[in-house]
Amino acid sequence: MSLAGPRRSWEAGRQVRPYTCRACGATERDYWPPFGWLQVRTRDPQAAPGDHTYTLIGFYCSAGCLAGEAARWAAAAAEDGR
Ligand SMILES: [Zn+2]
Repeated sequence: MSLAGPRRSWEAGRQVRPYTCRACGATERDYWPPFGWLQVRTRDPQAAPGDHTYTLIGFYCSAGCLAGEAARWAAAAAEDGR
């Protein structure tokens, strides 16, 4: 855990929260996504202007976990014929 804490005034309300890897279930508690972890986002087609444009679809502790999950996505997409 970095314990870096909030760095700017608009982050003052920031709390330590758990971040969990979607592949292996590893959990770290920190103010920020742990260093070295990887996020996958996709554009949200429903997003209105000014909304958050991207939706978080994955959060992984390592490239190995991300690659394993990506292989499962690829297999599922192949089954769908996409
Ligand atoms: Zn993991």
